[in-house]
Amino acid sequence: MSERDSSTFSGRLDAHLAARPRLERFLSGVGLVIENAIKVPLFRCQRCGECVLSHTAFICSQRCPKRLRNGACGGTRPGGRCEVYPERRCVWYAIYRRSLLLRRVPFLTERLAPHSWGLEHTSAWLNVFRGREEWPALRIGPLRHRMDMDAAERAEREEED
Ligand code: SF4
Repeated sequence: MSERDSSTFSGRLDAHLAARPRLERFLSGVGLVIENAIKVPLFRCQRCGECVLSHTAFICSQRCPKRLRNGACGGTRPGGRCEVYPERRCVWYAIYRRSLLLRRVPFLTERLAPHSWGLEHTSAWLNVFRGREEWPALRIGPLRHRMDMDAAERAEREEED
C-alpha cells in the first residue's frame, strides 16, 4: 500500500511511527519477537513482514525457494515435488491441497501484490495496523465460494482427462 490516508487510525499511526524511527524499531522488534514465538514453530514463518497466511490456507508460501506469493510457478514435478529441491514437496502444491480441504480455494484466485522487500524482518502485525499490508482475509462469501469451488473442480477434472 503506497498512499496512506492520514485521517484514518492506521494513517495517523503510520505517520507517527515514520517520524519516530526509534519507537518504530522498538515496536517492530517487540512485535517480531512475539510473532516469531508463535509463527515460526507453527507455520515455519520466514519473517517476510507482510503475512499472507490467510490467503494460503495457513501454509507459509515464503518457504517456496522462489519466494512466490502467487504460485505455483509452473515447474512443479510429478507427484507434487518442488522443481528446485525435488526431495521436497512443492509448497504451492501443499497450499492447494490444504485450500481444497479447508474450502479456501477462492483465495488462491486473488492475485496478491508483489512483496515489499523493505518490510522483510519487520513485524507483520504492526504493518497491518499501519496500513502497510492488507488485513487477513478470514472468510469467503458462500456464493462466491461455491462458484470458485466449481471452477476449481472443473479444472481438476480437465487436468485428469
Ligand atoms: S507469509 Fe510472511 S509473515 Fe506470514 S508466516 Fe510466511 S514469512 Fe511469516
